[in-house]
Amino acid sequence: MFGKIYSGIFVSIFLAAALCISLYWFDNHQRKQAYQFNALSGVAYLISDTITRQKSQNLSNNQKQRYLDIVSKLIGAQISVYHDQSLLPLEHKRPVLLAEKQDRPFTILPTARGKISVWLPTFEQGYINFTFKQINEQIFRGHLLLLSAELQRNDKEVSLSDIQHYSYHPLSILHKNKLNLDTQQKSRLSRKSVVVDYHSQDASRFNLFENLGDDKVLKMGPVQGYKTLPSDLVIKLIVLAVVVIVLVSSFLVYRLQLKFSAIKTMLDEFGKGDLTSRINLAGRDMLDKLAASINNMAEQIQSLLQSQRAVMQAVSHELRTPLARIRFRLELLDEAESVNDVNQSTGAIRNDVSQLESLIEEVITHNKLNHAQAFELTTTEITPIIEQEVENLAVLYPGLSFNLDNQSTQPIPVNLDAFKRMLANLISNACKHAKSQVHITCKQTLTSTELIFEDDGAGIMPDEYKKIFDAFYRVDSSRNKKTGGYGLGLAIVKRIVDLHQATIKVARSQSLGGAKFSVKFTQTELKTAQNEQ
Ligand code: ADP
Repeated sequence: MFGKIYSGIFVSIFLAAALCISLYWFDNHQRKQAYQFNALSGVAYLISDTITRQKSQNLSNNQKQRYLDIVSKLIGAQISVYHDQSLLPLEHKRPVLLAEKQDRPFTILPTARGKISVWLPTFEQGYINFTFKQINEQIFRGHLLLLSAELQRNDKEVSLSDIQHYSYHPLSILHKNKLNLDTQQKSRLSRKSVVVDYHSQDASRFNLFENLGDDKVLKMGPVQGYKTLPSDLVIKLIVLAVVVIVLVSSFLVYRLQLKFSAIKTMLDEFGKGDLTSRINLAGRDMLDKLAASINNMAEQIQSLLQSQRAVMQAVSHELRTPLARIRFRLELLDEAESVNDVNQSTGAIRNDVSQLESLIEEVITHNKLNHAQAFELTTTEITPIIEQEVENLAVLYPGLSFNLDNQSTQPIPVNLDAFKRMLANLISNACKHAKSQVHITCKQTLTSTELIFEDDGAGIMPDEYKKIFDAFYRVDSSRNKKTGGYGLGLAIVKRIVDLHQATIKVARSQSLGGAKFSVKFTQTELKTAQNEQ
């Protein structure tokens, strides 16, 4: 799994690096095309318009060719004219970069030997093509000379604004004295040659000047030369990003690996029988939460197994006494000399057998309830059920007086069998321990129904309050035959109470002096209704 994660990281690093390089290449390519268009479109349209104009001027072919030769020299490019579109090489009919703002498609095609080839329609069906090695200062010089020639045309009055659309770079006419040029540049300018003035800090920026005569100078600029993003910087950034990605992701995966191996170790140990084994993770990510859930599950399994072990031990202990008694009675039966002896022994054996039966029945009930996750509850009127239970038990304890304060209560959701079992256990416990009185009260409040069972017996010491609900726990004094059960009665009651999401409390009865057990059922619907009001 971690091998896959690591290879995934390496593949994504590779893809990220490839993406960076492609973006770098694409960005440079786009900027280069835009730069080529800005540098070449003006001069190309100017030449194209001049050739188109020559058509109407009835110039001879020689004159036209001379113009082309001069312009080719000026801009340092090979210029050709194609009169028929069908003569064009096929790929040139498909424009690559179009000057959308112009009415004619302007195409720049990189040629086989790294040259730049510009295609532009001139007149109907005609194209001009000029091919450069690269864009250099000469093109800008030639461009400025052609612009100056256009400005000084004989046949027509041409203003600066008329020629601005032949240049991507700003054009202006300045007075000779206002130029910020050194003396050498000024003298070259007066000799009528184009002066290129480079920016003092940025060598890719420059202005071009051309003497128009009458102390006027035509300025083109600032011209921004093409600058590629420095490739070594891009490589350094990619390497840095890769190193950071590798370090961070390796650290994260290593931490994951540690956590997984901690979980695996714990599960292996637990599987081998070490129920105390736990995962020691304290973070808050998904794996830590998973570890906490596994620890929780281990805790549950451990306590379940421990309690089952305790139940097994207690059950075998409880079985031993009646079985020993049965064995003893059977031996007596063998030696019985009279019918009376036989009857006595069989009577005692029957007694022990029914004790065993009731132990088994309680263990089964306790076990069932312990494994139950939820009860099926039916909303029931509980007052008649309590009355019936009291009646049933009162018959068995004729020496006791029963006081039943059974207020009418709201019907509550109960599991009928379990509820009856709970009542029987609590009332019979009170009866077993009472000297003479048992009080049962049923209280109804807005949000709860409370059942209270009190007696005037010896009561329960406060330090026993918690323990009496444990399975097989008995207070010492009850180990006599009169009251002693198996210590499962209250454990069963507690489980029934829990499954009803009710609460049980034990205390000393203020009125009778013995034990007081209160079971409280909270009616959530009533609570909600009350809150809504
Ligand atoms: P048992 O079936 O042995 O009575 P229970 O689980 O019902 O077991 O009770 C657990 C212990 O709580 C018993 O040992 C008993 O002494 C004590 N007990 C339960 N009810 C009362 C009561 N009403 N008065 C005094 N002691 C009580």
